[in-house]
Amino acid sequence: MHELSICQSMLRIVDATLEKHPGAQLQKIFLEIGKGATIEPILLRDAFAIVTSGGPYEGTELVIDEIPLVGKCRDCGKSFDYQEIALGCPSCGSRAISMQSGLELNIKELEISD
Ligand SMILES: [Zn+2]
Repeated sequence: MHELSICQSMLRIVDATLEKHPGAQLQKIFLEIGKGATIEPILLRDAFAIVTSGGPYEGTELVIDEIPLVGKCRDCGKSFDYQEIALGCPSCGSRAISMQSGLELNIKELEISD
């Protein structure tokens, strides 16, 4: 379950941020997860609950924003939904496709209170 290690590295970032705000309480973590990042939001929430259980971050809410998978044709420059990549570029048929978004996992924002 790689969601566990994702949560652990996420918490290292949280730790580093909260060190700069002594006494602050973590409320929410806003995440952006690409649909192509092979991360299941449900599993990530479960893993997060396990990792934070009994610790200072227990009960922190994960707010997950899913980023659609977008490909871009390197021949004609058109962007489109990833699902169509299997058939090539929908406008010119080229198979020279690069991923534009949808593979990321970002911590967008941490909500803390004093
Ligand atoms: Zn094209």
